[in-house]
Amino acid sequence: MPLPKLPEDPSVSEMIGWIASRYRMSKADLARMYQTTQSTIHYWAKTGKISYKNLRKVRSSFYYLNNGRDPHADERRCEGCERWQPVGSFREGKAICRACENKKTLEHYRKHREEELKRRKAKNWYNRKAN
Ligand SMILES: [Zn+2]
Repeated sequence: MPLPKLPEDPSVSEMIGWIASRYRMSKADLARMYQTTQSTIHYWAKTGKISYKNLRKVRSSFYYLNNGRDPHADERRCEGCERWQPVGSFREGKAICRACENKKTLEHYRKHREEELKRRKAKNWYNRKAN
């Protein structure tokens, strides 16, 4: 039976489970549909781990079969802030958005700077002692 209200962010196993029971599809059918293997289908459902490309496929089929529209069709979920962001906010081959990338760079810089200051302090102490 159709879901009363389409969830915005169903898990992979929810989506696959719903399709399998609604359309009486076996793992072999699902594997054919997503052009993958049965063990991959099993892995997705069990771990929720799926590539961005395959998640697109699963979401697109799930919303299509529910006569709905993927609310995040033009977005990708950032692995850093875990928010849905426009696809354009990701650099090629990156799983985190630009904002998260910038934050990481800044954190790296701060950490590096702190270490540099500590090193300098230790050096000053040593020089003072030597004089
Ligand atoms: Zn992010």
